[in-house]
Amino acid sequence: MKNLESLNAEIIACRKCPRLVEWREDVARVKRKAYLEHEYWGRPVPGFGDPKARVLVVGLAPGAHGSNRTGRNFTGDASGGFLFPALHRAGFASQAEAESRDDGLFLTDMYITASGRCAPPDNKPTLEELNNCQPYLEQELKILEPKVIVCLGRIAFERILKIHSIRNSIYKFGHGASYQLENGTWLLCSYHPSQQNTSTGKLTIPMFDQIWERARSLLNETH
Ligand code: SF4
Repeated sequence: MKNLESLNAEIIACRKCPRLVEWREDVARVKRKAYLEHEYWGRPVPGFGDPKARVLVVGLAPGAHGSNRTGRNFTGDASGGFLFPALHRAGFASQAEAESRDDGLFLTDMYITASGRCAPPDNKPTLEELNNCQPYLEQELKILEPKVIVCLGRIAFERILKIHSIRNSIYKFGHGASYQLENGTWLLCSYHPSQQNTSTGKLTIPMFDQIWERARSLLNETH
């Protein structure tokens, strides 16, 4: 079995999805006006965090000017600006700020990954692209054997169900919903901390804090 380091090297070099390769590299070349001085990452974004993590967080895909720019999940955009303060309050993140790969942030007992590793146009990877990327998530699951998987958004939840061959008519996505799989792993659902959800109040700070409290309490309920 691969380790996280060799898996991440493989992910970073991946060019399986032509549409996404073109998009991520175009965005990195053209840049957003506010980031003209930045050197964009422009490649697949690997997972990051504690290699001994018991909690795996699964997001959707990199933001064009967030992690496609910084090279670290949820780093440098509004979603991360909502996520990391919550993880810091919950004791999983060493700091609330996440601006770049070398900002000193580290995670304890948590690893953050995504359903798709390349920034998609309109934040929408196709089914084929998600299928192409799924083996990387499967390998992370095998390596980490997490006790709790927090799915940020429906797409992450459905991807985890697919990997476990579970029909989603049985398990429903809903903020705060949790299910224990046959192997004892807990799935915990949360709305994605996208700007669309947080600016409209669909996802509030107290609602999000409850997710991380629940993730901690589920760690004590695994067997
Ligand atoms: S989305 Fe995944 S499978 Fe597709 S090119 Fe990026 S890393 Fe490779």
